[in-house]
Amino acid sequence: MTVTTLRSQAELQALAESGAAELPWDAAAQEVIAWVARNFTTQASAVACSMADAVLPALVAEQLPGVDVLFLDTGYHFEETYATRDEVAKNLRVNVVDVKPVHTVADQDSLLGKDLFAADPATCCALRKVEPLHRSLQDYELWFTGVRRDEAPTRTNTPLVVWDEKNGLIKVNPVATWSYEELLRYSNDNLLPVNPLLSQGYPSIGCAPCTNKVAPGADPRSGRWAGTSKTECGLHV
Ligand code: SF4
Repeated sequence: MTVTTLRSQAELQALAESGAAELPWDAAAQEVIAWVARNFTTQASAVACSMADAVLPALVAEQLPGVDVLFLDTGYHFEETYATRDEVAKNLRVNVVDVKPVHTVADQDSLLGKDLFAADPATCCALRKVEPLHRSLQDYELWFTGVRRDEAPTRTNTPLVVWDEKNGLIKVNPVATWSYEELLRYSNDNLLPVNPLLSQGYPSIGCAPCTNKVAPGADPRSGRWAGTSKTECGLHV
């Protein structure tokens, strides 16, 4: 959705600072979203969702109904992920936006070689996730992510509200304080759409070629880009 007037980056940066100062480090997700609802319009806000679960879109839609939910359609997702995307679009009060890379998978194969994800996952993620997200975020003042502090050592200090220098807008992480169990409980209690792969050994779901099953009790993100040194797609670093 195109927003007619976005505030300047300086104004937004000041707002991010005041939000970070106003909200306690362990503020409830609803409190964080209420701060957004007081300071931003629904049209100026977006929710990033990988379609592993629908907790973040549901939480945000309670206070910002009709909000845009950005789904990075890399062309490489599991069937179950596309089905979850359809359920979210049908059942929640949100507007799902498919964010697509410049090139289809077939075009990328012919331009850069087949299965770039195997030869050069960093470039594949840059082309299919980072650039499309950056491009689409230019229409908003703020984006919500589902990043949690317990997901990985690189995420332990995730703030609730922060200025996202790389993308030039505010980044809000309302469920940063939640555990994986709390997330699943909220999803079950509220009968939200959920990706069936979550209960089939995939606690962290990305593109099919780069997501493996994880042994019970192992690091949830160890199934992502298994066998390589890569741990992040570049969206949150
Ligand atoms: Fe490509 Fe894998 Fe990154 Fe998906 S997760 S964009 S397939 S490298």
